[in-house]
Amino acid sequence: MTKLEELKAKSAEIVDVQRAAAVLSWDQHAFMPVGGASARAEQLATLGKISHQLLVNSEMEKLLAAAKLEVEGMGPDSDDFAYWRAAQRNYDRFAKIPADLVARLSKATSLANEKWVDARSKSDFAIFQPNLEELLGLQLEMAKDLGYQDSPYDPLLDLYEPDMKAHQVRAIFTELKAGLVPIVAAIANGGRQIQKGFLMTEYELADQEAFTLELLKAIGYDFRRGRQDKVPHPFTTTFSSGDVRVTNRFMLNRAASSFFGALHEGGHALYEQGVRADFDHGFLGGGTSTAVHESQSRTWENIVGRSLPFWTHWFPALQKRFENQLRGVTAEEYWKAVNIVGPSAIRVEADEVTYNLHIILRFEIEVDLVEGRLAVKDLPQVWNAKMKESLGYEVKDDAEGVLQDVHWSMGYFGYFPGYALGNLLSVQFYQRAQADIPNLSEQLADGHYQVLLAWLRSNIHQHGSKYTPTELVQRVTGGEIDPKPFLAYLKEKYGQIYGI
Ligand code: ZN
Repeated sequence: MTKLEELKAKSAEIVDVQRAAAVLSWDQHAFMPVGGASARAEQLATLGKISHQLLVNSEMEKLLAAAKLEVEGMGPDSDDFAYWRAAQRNYDRFAKIPADLVARLSKATSLANEKWVDARSKSDFAIFQPNLEELLGLQLEMAKDLGYQDSPYDPLLDLYEPDMKAHQVRAIFTELKAGLVPIVAAIANGGRQIQKGFLMTEYELADQEAFTLELLKAIGYDFRRGRQDKVPHPFTTTFSSGDVRVTNRFMLNRAASSFFGALHEGGHALYEQGVRADFDHGFLGGGTSTAVHESQSRTWENIVGRSLPFWTHWFPALQKRFENQLRGVTAEEYWKAVNIVGPSAIRVEADEVTYNLHIILRFEIEVDLVEGRLAVKDLPQVWNAKMKESLGYEVKDDAEGVLQDVHWSMGYFGYFPGYALGNLLSVQFYQRAQADIPNLSEQLADGHYQVLLAWLRSNIHQHGSKYTPTELVQRVTGGEIDPKPFLAYLKEKYGQIYGI
């Protein structure tokens, strides 16, 4: 057995423990009764500690050094080199964080999540505030352990966007915001009125669910290797490439939100189901970054799912299922309604244009919290003020304001930028697919999604996290993350919808 093979065998065990923890975490959000919370927190903390111990020890350190000699001189195109690099990166990251901090983080996040659920249901930030203060303290401890030069935000961001720095995100977001503001203004000032009343009537929940299953199947989500369950805040989770689960939520008056939720989570799941089988049981399984992952969900949710050809194809089936709600509505009217642009409170319900302003707001707030310019207790006020200033929205209460997202309660600081970066990448990748597949538009218009999925599989999915995000983006687009194609896409699409 080579040292690299030994390394692979050892890291497969670590992945087993991590994925067992993922099952417990999925259950916590989908099925667990409230009474299970504190014991579940202990269980997750214990598993976190075990995987940390399996990864960070002197035997592993020696193994990595020995395996390095075996892959020396090989480039990132070599699977073996990529494996060693991913393992070394994981090791470096976790070796710097003491096992005790990992356990405290895991326990604190489980409890914070429970408090967040309670605070959100009562719309009272004060219930969650002490937990968030504790979590922020732990994140700062972690940032210090990981080390940084410019900002404690950098090592936290690096956990989700490898090799990216806060100043780079700021530069991209500055250009993005400058491009978004005039589009929002043009729509607000000169845009035609669009009917949307039929989106808000009551849609039978079981029928919504049935339609989401149809959509998931159509885009190629494999139900023999996954399932859809109901949660308050949808997500996708991977136990192996043979078991990638999506979640969704169904609300009587928000049927469209479950349709796009299915396409979104389905996009994430297609990425995970598409990773090379031999990468599955190890460090190269799973997506390479939050942004690249989000580019996959946005491809299906927005570029495909919010297009006119998509609804020209699907609307007759939808109308048949909901004939009372959609009587007299045309496919084009439905398409316009699901693309309405306007100030809104909730990020996950936001349109493609203003969505990124929600993210930029969170990025600014996170950086201020982490760099010590903003106290947790002042969050609701600052949140509400920023919502007014950047989106023109008057926040009514904490539930629709600062408590809307689950992320901070789960200890995800530095995660949000990936959402907006993913939007930018989705358009960059899609343009490449269009260049490679001459009849792509016709295929999609006919409801044939296999050709796009096959392209994504071969260019993105199969690689898992073999390539760093920077390498992958370079390989596929020939460049780096760039807001210009996304802004051009918005101008064209919304010019057509709003006649501006
Ligand atoms: Zn997503």
